Amino acid sequence: VIGGLGAVYYVADKARHPGTQLPFDSTKKTIVVLGSGWGATSLLKGIDTTEYNVVVISPKNYFLFTPLLPSVAVGTLSPRSILQPTRYVTRHKTREVAVIEADAHAVDPVKKTVTFSDDSEIRGLSSSTTISYDYLVYAVGAEVQTFGIPGVQEHACFMKELEHAEKFQRRFMDCVETAGFPGQSPEEVERLLHMVVVGGGPTGIELSGELHDWLKDDLAHWYPELSDRIRISLVEALPSVLPMFSKQLIDYTVSTFKESKIDVLTQTMVKEVKPNSVILQMPDKSLKEVPCGLVVWAGGNKGRKITVDLKAKVPGQTNPRGITVDDHLRMVGTDGIFAIGDCTSTSYAPTAQVASQQGAYLARVFAQIAKKTSLEARISELETKTPAAANEEERKANAKELDAAKKSAELVAIRPFHYSHQGSLAYIGSEKAIADLPFMNGNIASGGVATFLFWRSAYLSNLFSLRNRTLVANDWWLTQLFGRDVSR
Ligand code: NAD
Repeated sequence: VIGGLGAVYYVADKARHPGTQLPFDSTKKTIVVLGSGWGATSLLKGIDTTEYNVVVISPKNYFLFTPLLPSVAVGTLSPRSILQPTRYVTRHKTREVAVIEADAHAVDPVKKTVTFSDDSEIRGLSSSTTISYDYLVYAVGAEVQTFGIPGVQEHACFMKELEHAEKFQRRFMDCVETAGFPGQSPEEVERLLHMVVVGGGPTGIELSGELHDWLKDDLAHWYPELSDRIRISLVEALPSVLPMFSKQLIDYTVSTFKESKIDVLTQTMVKEVKPNSVILQMPDKSLKEVPCGLVVWAGGNKGRKITVDLKAKVPGQTNPRGITVDDHLRMVGTDGIFAIGDCTSTSYAPTAQVASQQGAYLARVFAQIAKKTSLEARISELETKTPAAANEEERKANAKELDAAKKSAELVAIRPFHYSHQGSLAYIGSEKAIADLPFMNGNIASGGVATFLFWRSAYLSNLFSLRNRTLVANDWWLTQLFGRDVSR
């Protein structure tokens, strides 16, 4: 036990000293990584920095474990538990990785530069800098898609960043507390306690499920006079929720939501979000104004402005869904740019799983490029050295090494990226989860302790570090013991 604790202490604490890492080396190639999400973090985890300088530029100096964001929104997890500082990810690297907290706002694919600025809240001024790259890993993700629907940006909550989950919790509790204010009219109470979730994709479904759990497990005890009056409506424009899952799993989700008293309105489109209501276009195309206290917008994602601008600079990048990459994840039409994650358009759904496999793949690609480059340098050195060898013995030794180096160089074949789908999993509340797995004949739709534990263990094992696993497991245990946080 003492040995184990000692090892944990060493790994967690002792080995994080950038001062002991190799410094920037101007003779090495520089990889600039834009972003600190799934793709970038997976790359940083796997990359060997011995042969490269690596610079990370991201507006957030951390990685956010997005699948657990709805758990933060309902107070099951504390926000800090699902964050991983990017410097923590790179602390073991041979060469120090420069992590710059900044907004990249332009890429010049011809000059091979990135321009970024630090919009520091503290200094209150913005300074802009441009740096060069040899390789650019473009992993900026996506932003919330509002389709220009009036009022969404102003009045709805999103569920993509940490601040969205925190804002949601405060707004939700504000609705509950205001509904409990003495003398509140019944109509106003009804409005305040009506929560509308827009979007029947995995984000909307998981948030609705978690919200129901919060209601049932905690709010029912703390606000017994109000909890029965809280209503959750899930609005989806398409004929069905979760179109990426099988019919069996969709039916299971819908029937679970029915038992949980979550109203699922399909073929219903949100046309406008007002401060105190939403305008819905019903299946018969009529418009209906529905009063509500809170609207959560989980209507999907779109490319960021920097991505739109970059695509406009590269001939042939016309796919509106994102950056087109070749089978080695190189941005088509550019030299030295790799694009991964939600900013790209591929044949797979843009999920965390895809981005993280792409990041891990690129880490291997860079190792192979480094190996090939060093073998090629040695080959050219030996090719000049061999004819000028001092004696026959040295010439033979050189020729032998040259032959071996050429064979090794031929063996360094950089294979195309291949996505291996490990399955999709979604928590739907009431300790039930649905899983679409490529093994065990496909679909698992089940509830109960086993599924719940499976969901939790799958998410725990996907967390990138022991540190986060410890924090999340601890929060789960504390929530079990003391309930969720209902403070605002
Ligand atoms: P999504 O694009 O999957 O779903 C958004 C939904 O909102 C769509 O079904 C769309 O029809 C609906 N919508 C859009 N505008 C609307 C309107 N005006 N009125 C009513 N409905 C409207 O978005 P998401 O759920 O945020 O997921 C984004 C990506 O992340 C997906 O690739 C998803 O697979 C992935 N993801 C996966 C998980 C998981 O596997 N557990 C969890 C979260 C996200």
